[in-house]
Amino acid sequence: MSKRFDVIVLGVGAMGASACYHLASRGAAVLGLEQFDIPNDQGSAHGQSRAFRMCYFEHPDYVPLLRRSLELWHQLEEITERKLLHMTGGIWFGPADCELIAGSRDAAVTHDLTHEWIEYDDAAKRYPQFTIPDGYVGFYEPQAGLLLPERIISACAEHAAKRGAVLRANEAVVKWEADSKSVTIHTTQSEYEADHLIVCAGPWSSRVLDEIGVELSVTRQIAIWVQPPEAELFALGTLPIWAIDRPAGGMYYGFPILSDKAGFKLSVHCPGPSTDPDAIDHVAQDDEMNELREMLGRFIPGADGPLLEASVCMYTNTPDANFIIDHHPQHANVTIACGFSGHGFKFASVIGEALADLALDGRTELPIGFLGVQRFAD
Ligand SMILES: Cc1cc2nc3c(=O)[nH]c(=O)nc-3n(C[C@H](O)[C@H](O)[C@H](O)COP(=O)(O)OP(=O)(O)OC[C@H]3O[C@@H](n4cnc5c(N)ncnc54)[C@H](O)[C@@H]3O)c2cc1C
Repeated sequence: MSKRFDVIVLGVGAMGASACYHLASRGAAVLGLEQFDIPNDQGSAHGQSRAFRMCYFEHPDYVPLLRRSLELWHQLEEITERKLLHMTGGIWFGPADCELIAGSRDAAVTHDLTHEWIEYDDAAKRYPQFTIPDGYVGFYEPQAGLLLPERIISACAEHAAKRGAVLRANEAVVKWEADSKSVTIHTTQSEYEADHLIVCAGPWSSRVLDEIGVELSVTRQIAIWVQPPEAELFALGTLPIWAIDRPAGGMYYGFPILSDKAGFKLSVHCPGPSTDPDAIDHVAQDDEMNELREMLGRFIPGADGPLLEASVCMYTNTPDANFIIDHHPQHANVTIACGFSGHGFKFASVIGEALADLALDGRTELPIGFLGVQRFAD
């Protein structure tokens, strides 16, 4: 194997796998280095499903990226001949002025996106699976659905390898250094050189990027799967992806049942307790599931069946919960993509494209200016 590459990608999780796919598709000589398996259940991209939404309550500026992202997801399905995305639509419930509902409407109006505002009585009739608190409204968007993260990472990695990319699993980067001509990467097994380095280290980003000057907090997140007594009411094809405002902050959300063997998955979107990615306990404790079990009994009683599975995952949060995608502040030949703050997966296709642009062309036409690292210095 040659030890000199056009681009080395550090971390082959959600963003790194997509970057490898885009780079290799453009004919670049790529090396992807991953400390665990590809894919793995140690970082931020495991657990069978990830929500895709277009009416982006977090910030309307994400919508153009989401439009391109959806195009690229469909393209990836065609090229790899795999089912990677189910467009189920999405139903959100909450008080009219909460962030989830008001923010989704704001994005829909700003970008002229198809959506439906559903008053309380109609929402209760249309979605009998949910016991909606009095005064809540429903917001439905058709351009929502669920992505299959492990399958996507495998599809990107396998396609990249077919196009000549070298992907090394179970080989951790321990150090890198850059000068104006080249980047040198030291791993647990070898040393490599490249014209350009892309760092997509997820929860380990601070370990490999300590000089970017932004505090990234890593938090522990729990998801559970239960067996509803009447599973057909919650099946793929019947139920859209869903979310319910959480008065204490963030939202509860979940997915339809994907197959006979899978359960009904739900979680909380809100940063959990801080954790250390190298010392995290990957087993969910009973008390960490109490809030989800309680919420289930209150809002979705028909799904309140036995626990099938629980998973522990990590968010990597920036101070403003928006991503960082930019050139490294000190090295023009290093690009960084981190701080996806629990909502990045749906963008992985377009972020891979942006990273390939930045590494190969030094710039991108994609509207990622608002995600620059400089905003924290300002
Ligand atoms: C419970 C949960 C639910 C989520 N739900 C959604 C959702 O519904 N919709 C959505 O859009 N997003 C969601 N997200 C967020 C999304 O999954 C993340 O934003 C995304 O996975 C981040 O991708 P990443 O590439 O930065 O990190 P990861 O996918 O974790 O990849 C980073 C990779 O880098 C590797 N790595 C790190 N350091 C090194 C090193 N030194 N050497 C070699 N390899 C290294 C890691 O092992 C890892 O594989 C969720 C996240 C969690 C935890």
